[in-house]
Amino acid sequence: MNDCIFCKIISQEIPSEIVYEDENTLAFLDINPINLGHTLVIPKQHHENIFDVPEEILNNTMKVLQKVARSVDEISDGINVGQNNRPAAGQIVNHIHFHVIPRFEKDGLRSWPGKKYGEAEIKETLGKIRKNLE
Ligand code: 5GP
Ligand code: ZN
Repeated sequence: MNDCIFCKIISQEIPSEIVYEDENTLAFLDINPINLGHTLVIPKQHHENIFDVPEEILNNTMKVLQKVARSVDEISDGINVGQNNRPAAGQIVNHIHFHVIPRFEKDGLRSWPGKKYGEAEIKETLGKIRKNLE
């Protein structure tokens, strides 16, 4: 945890451009923005990802996420909210964070590709996910 870059941003060991801060949550500009205004929203308590963050901490983070999303939406045409978990999903910093990404008409960013399900695949996939929710 001591090596966590976002914990160092919270403790101000590493400088950041703070967008919003309260007791539990910090929002600051991403250092490599996808578009200008790209903001990261993080809980001040260190948790790695969506799987291990306690519900109450997540709820606090969500409240600030919505505030920041509304604010960034005012300076753009729309926003994406993104959150990566594990390296395969593109997570580089192991302190849970939500990306608020301003989007602009014709900003040239591609949306995600869409696959097609076969009939067997739909049932099989649904079954596997539902089973894990029991
Ligand atoms: P991930 O890929 O883990 O979802 O996203 C990590 C994000 O953190 C990246 O978008 C990256 O630009 C941002 N980031 C990494 N290091 C720093 C830093 O030191 N300061 C700030 N403001 N953002 C950072
Ligand atoms: Zn951390």
